Amino acid sequence: MKRRKMNLRGISDPRVLHAMEAVPRHLFVSPEREHEAYGDYPLPIGYGQTISQPYIVALMTELLELKDTDKVLEIGTGSGYQAAILSLLAKEVYTLERIPALADAARERLRRLGYHNVHVRVGDGYHGWPEHAPYDAIMLTCAAEDVPPPLIAQLRDGGRLVAPVGAPHGFQHLILLSKKGREVSRREVTGVVFVPLRRGTEEGKRP
Ligand code: SAH
Repeated sequence: MKRRKMNLRGISDPRVLHAMEAVPRHLFVSPEREHEAYGDYPLPIGYGQTISQPYIVALMTELLELKDTDKVLEIGTGSGYQAAILSLLAKEVYTLERIPALADAARERLRRLGYHNVHVRVGDGYHGWPEHAPYDAIMLTCAAEDVPPPLIAQLRDGGRLVAPVGAPHGFQHLILLSKKGREVSRREVTGVVFVPLRRGTEEGKRP
C-alpha cells in the first residue's frame, strides 16, 4: 500500500511518523474504499461518520506530545484508526463511541490486529470515562460547541487536550488545552471540519 505517500505536511515528530507508517489504514475503511485509504482526505466509515484525513490524525497526535507511560482518552472511536495510532505512542488508550455498531466493529478490528492496549466502550463521551481518570492526554474526534467540562476535570495536572470546537457542520477550530494547576491555557491551531459530538448513545438501537 501507499503509506509512504501519505501527505503529512509539516509533521516531524519521528514517533508520530513511525506510528502513521505502522498502522494499516486500509484495514480501517470499508473494502470498497481500500484503494483510496491513504488519500489526502477524510473517508466515510458508515453511520454518517468519517475517518479524518491522515494529516489531521498526525497533527492531533503530535499536539498531545505523548509519552509511552501515558494514559489517553479518546472521544469518538469511529473505525478505531486514531485509537490504533495513539496505542503505539501511549501505555493505555480508553476510547468512547456512542454508536454501538461502530464500537463493536472497532473493538473486534483492534483485537484482530493486535492493538491490545485499546479499550473500547459505548458511551456518551461528553461525560468522559471517570473510572480511569485522570488522563495524561485527551483527544476529541467529534466537534462540540465547547470542550465538555467533565473532560477538563478528567485531565491530569500538566495534561493536554486536543479538540475541534465550533458549530456542528460549520466552522470549527482545532484547539489545544494545557492544564497547569487551576490554569487552563488554550491555543487555536487551525481550522477544521469534524462530525458533531451528539449527546446520548444509540444503545437500544442495536440491529
Ligand atoms: N476517531 C475516529 C473517527 C471518528 S468520527 C477514527 O479514527 O475512525 C467521530 C465519531 O464520534 C463518530 O463515530 C461518532 O459516532 C462519535 N461521537 C459523536 N458524538 C459522540 C459522543 N457524545 N460520545 C462518543 N462518541 C461520539
